[in-house]
Amino acid sequence: MNQFKSIFLGTIGKTEDMAQLKRAVDTQKCIRAGGKHNDLDDVGKDSYHHTFFEMLGNWSFGDYFKKDAIAWSWELLTKVYGLDPNRLYVTYFEGHPETGLEPDFEAKQLWIDAGVPEDHIIPGNMKDNFWEMGDQGPCGPCSEIHYDKVGGRNAAHLVNMDDPLVVEVWNNVFIQFDRQADKSLKPLPAKHVDTGMGFERLVSALQDKSSNYATDIFTPLFEKIKEVTGARQYTDKYGKDDVDGIDTAYRVVADHIRLLSFAIADGAAPNNVGRGYVVRRVLRRGARYARKYFQTEIGSFFSRILPALVEQMGEQFPELVKKQDDIKEILDEEEVAFAITLDRGEKQFEKYAAAAIKAGEAKLSGADVWRLYDTFGFPEDLTKLMAEERSLTIDEAEVAQAREKAREASKAVKEAVQTFPKLTVHHIAELDKLGFARTDSEPKYLKGDLKSKVQLIFTGTEFRETTKDLPPKTPLGLLLDKTNFYAESGGQVTDTGRILVDGNVEFKVLDVQEYSGFVIHSGYIEYGELTAGEEVICEYDELRRQPIKNNHTGTHVLNHALREVLGDEVFQKGSLVDQDKLRFDFSHKAQVSLDEIKRIEDMSNQDIKKNLKTYTQDVDLDLAREIEGVRAVFGEAYPNPVRVVSIGVPVEELLSNPKNPEWRKISVEFCGGTHVDQTGQIKDLIIVEESGIAKGIRRIVAYTGDGAHQAQRLATTFAEKLNHTEAMSFGPEQISEVKAASFELDGLTISAITKEELRAKFAKIQKVVVDEQKKRQKAESKTALDAVQGHFKVKTEEKWFVGHLPISANAKALSDVMTYYKTKEKERSVYLFAGSKDDSVMHAVYVGTHLSSKGVTAEQWTSAVSQVIGGKTGGKEPSRQGAGAEPARLEEAVETAEQWLLEKVKELKI
Ligand code: ATP
Ligand code: MG
Repeated sequence: MNQFKSIFLGTIGKTEDMAQLKRAVDTQKCIRAGGKHNDLDDVGKDSYHHTFFEMLGNWSFGDYFKKDAIAWSWELLTKVYGLDPNRLYVTYFEGHPETGLEPDFEAKQLWIDAGVPEDHIIPGNMKDNFWEMGDQGPCGPCSEIHYDKVGGRNAAHLVNMDDPLVVEVWNNVFIQFDRQADKSLKPLPAKHVDTGMGFERLVSALQDKSSNYATDIFTPLFEKIKEVTGARQYTDKYGKDDVDGIDTAYRVVADHIRLLSFAIADGAAPNNVGRGYVVRRVLRRGARYARKYFQTEIGSFFSRILPALVEQMGEQFPELVKKQDDIKEILDEEEVAFAITLDRGEKQFEKYAAAAIKAGEAKLSGADVWRLYDTFGFPEDLTKLMAEERSLTIDEAEVAQAREKAREASKAVKEAVQTFPKLTVHHIAELDKLGFARTDSEPKYLKGDLKSKVQLIFTGTEFRETTKDLPPKTPLGLLLDKTNFYAESGGQVTDTGRILVDGNVEFKVLDVQEYSGFVIHSGYIEYGELTAGEEVICEYDELRRQPIKNNHTGTHVLNHALREVLGDEVFQKGSLVDQDKLRFDFSHKAQVSLDEIKRIEDMSNQDIKKNLKTYTQDVDLDLAREIEGVRAVFGEAYPNPVRVVSIGVPVEELLSNPKNPEWRKISVEFCGGTHVDQTGQIKDLIIVEESGIAKGIRRIVAYTGDGAHQAQRLATTFAEKLNHTEAMSFGPEQISEVKAASFELDGLTISAITKEELRAKFAKIQKVVVDEQKKRQKAESKTALDAVQGHFKVKTEEKWFVGHLPISANAKALSDVMTYYKTKEKERSVYLFAGSKDDSVMHAVYVGTHLSSKGVTAEQWTSAVSQVIGGKTGGKEPSRQGAGAEPARLEEAVETAEQWLLEKVKELKI
C-alpha cells in the first residue's frame, strides 16, 4: 500500500496523477521475509504462507466505505466466484477498552445485512482486527474473510487458530481514524478502504485444493524442479508425512525462486543489509534445501528454475522478462559464492551439532551459530532450521551476544593491523638465506578457494614457526607458499578474507602486501593455532572482489573513452580501484565539460553493452611496447615480461600485427589487476564527479555495477520527491520541502549529468516558489499598508494606530509599513500585529516623533505587550519587533498595547 500512503495521509499534491484517484484495483507484489512481517520460518512447512505472494487490492480513497466494501466482497466471493457461503466466516473488531476503542458493531451488522448467518461472524482482537500503519497516522478496524476447506460443519472455532484448513483469504481494512502523537484517535475527514486478498489462497479455494501448492500456481514450477533435479513427483505431504523431506524442499525452492526473481527484478541485490540481506538469506536457505534434498550442485540451480517462472508470470509482470538475464546472473553469482562454503559449513555444523547432542544440550551455542555465520555465511535462520532437523534449538539473544563479543574483541586488533610493519630489505635477505621461494601468486587470477601451505609467521619484527604461546589477537603476517589473495598494487586495493583450517583455525586477512615477491597476509587469528608446514585453505572475499573487478575493468574502459573524447594527450596520473568506486586522475588542461562527460560515459557504456571479452597475456616488455596505442603509466617500472590486458581483441592478435592503427580504437593496457571476463558484467558505468586536483590534472570518480544502479535509484527517488514538491500547493510545507531538497541534492552522490539535470529542475521549482513568495509578500505588504492608511484616512487627526492586520505572520510586511511611517509620516506611531491565534503571531512597533519626543520608547511599549504574548523582541529605537510565543493570547495583547499607550498618554499628559 506504500504507493497510496500520501493519499491516506492527505499529503499528496493536488496536481499529482494519483490525487485524482477515487478507487483503484491492483495486484501487489508482497514480500514477507523479514522485518515486521516475516513468514519465512513457515515457508515449506505449511500450505498457505509464502515469502512472496500476490495481494489483490481494492481501494477506495474517500469514496465507497464499509457498507459497500462488505456487501461487494461478499457478492464477489459467493456470487461471482461461486464459493460456498456455508464455508465462509467473517470477523469484525471486538474493541479494545484499554485504549478506548469501541467494537465495530457497524461491520457486524453490515455482514448480517449482506446475508452472513450470525454463527459465521466472529469477533476478533486488536492483533487480527485493527490495522495501523505506524505509531501515528491513518488506522482503523478490519474485517477478515476466512474459508473452510473441509465444509459440512461449523468451523467458527477454528478461525484465526493457525488451522491450515481454515485460512484467511481476504482482509478488509477500514481506514477511519488518524492516530495522534498523544495516542488519541481523531476521525479522518475522508474515510478509505484498503482490502487485500491473497491470490494463492483464493486460487486454492477456487480449485478446491487443501493447499496453495497443489494449485496451478505452483505446478509448473514443480515440474521444472523435477526436470532439473530428477527428483520424485511432488505429493503435497507435510511434516512427518513428508518422510524424505522432498515435498518440503519442492515448496521451499518454488516459493524462494518467486521471491528472488521478483526482488531482483525490482532492483534488490543480495548483500548483508536490509532488503539485500533478505535476498541473500532466502537464496542460501533455498540453496541448502536444494543440495541436501535434491542432491543438486549449487552454482546455477535457481537460474535453471527461472525460465518456468518467467514463462508463467512474464506476461502479467513484464519486468521478469526484461530483467531475466540480470536475475540469472545475480542468482548464479550469489550461488557460486555460497557454494564455496556451503559444503564445509554443513560439515562444521554437523560437528557442532554432534558435540551439543553428546553433551546432552538441547541447543546449539550462540558462539557456534555466530561462527557458522561469520566463517561460512550461514544466515541465522538457516542454522536454526538445520538445528531443528537435529531437534536442537538456538537462542537468539545468545547469538547476538556472541556477535557483539567477537566484534568487540576484533576491533582493537583490526586497528593494530592497519599499521602492521612492512618487510624490510633485511627481512627479505633473511628469507632468501633461509631458502624460501617467492610466493606463487598466479592463483589470484583464478576463481574459488585455494589449498596452500604456511611457510612462516611474521610478528612485525621477526619470523617464527608457530603462533603457539602468542597472546590472543596479536597482529600477524602470514607467509604462504602460494596465494589467491590480491596484494595491493596498481591502484587496486588489497583483497580481504580468511585463511582456514576448517573448524580448527581461522585467520582473518585484513591486508595483503607484496615485498619483492614475498606476499604477506596480515591480520589476526580468530581462533586456533597455526604452525609452519600446515595446510590451509585461502579464501578471499569473493563478493568484495566482484565490484573491485568491475571497477578495475571499468577504469580501463573509461581510460580508453577519455582518450577518444578528450584526445591523445590524456595520460594516467593516478588511479584507485576499490569495492565502491573507481577514481582516475589524468592530465588534461581544461575542465571536462558536461557534454564531454556525457560522451565519455556513453562511450564507456557502449563498450559495456557490447559485452566484450577481456584478454590477458604475459608479453616480452619490448614487444608489448610496440603495440599501437597501448596505455602504460609514464615512469612506472614494469616487470619483464609484462601482463597485457586488452578488451575486445585477443592479445595474441595484437601481437601478430602490433602496428595496426586499428588497435588505437580499443583498450590495451599494462596491468596486473583482476578483471571481469566480459565487460557486460560491469552492467553500467556512471561518472559521479569531475574535478581538478592540481594544475592540468583532472579527477573522475565513477561507479559501476550495483553501485551504479544504487546511485541511479537514489537519483530516481530524489526526482520523484522533486515532482511531489513541485505538485504541492504553495504554502509553508512546500517552502520547507524546497529548502530540504536543496540540501539533499547537494549531498547526493549520483551521476554528474543527472545531478545537473536535477539542479536545473530544482532551480525552476525554486524560482516558482520564490516568485510566489515574493508576490504574496508584496500583496501582504500592500494589504497591511492599506489597512493602516485606511485608518488614518478616516481618523485624520489621530497620531497613532494599534491593531491586528489581516495578513499572515509576515515580518517583512510589518517592517515595510514601519519603514513607510518612519520615512513618510514620521509623526505617527503604529503598533502592528500580524498572524493568527491558531498559528503564529508577529508584532512590531514604530514610535513616531509625536510620542518619542515625549519620552515614549519602543522598548517600554513592546515589553508591556511581551508580558502577554510572550517571546523576545529586538530592534533599534524608535522601532522594535518580535514573535509572540503564545499566539492564543493575541487579542489580549492587542488590547494591552492600546491600554498601555492610553495610560502613558495620561501619565505624560500628551
Ligand atoms: P495470516 O494470519 O494467515 O498470516 P495475515 O493476517 O498476516 O494472514 P494480512 O496481513 O491481513 O494477512 O494480509 C491480507 C491477505 O494476504 C491475507 O488475507 C492472505 O490472504 C494473504 N496473505 C498474508 N500473508 C500471506 C503469506 N505469507 N502468503 C500468502 N498469502 C498471504
Ligand atoms: Mg501473517
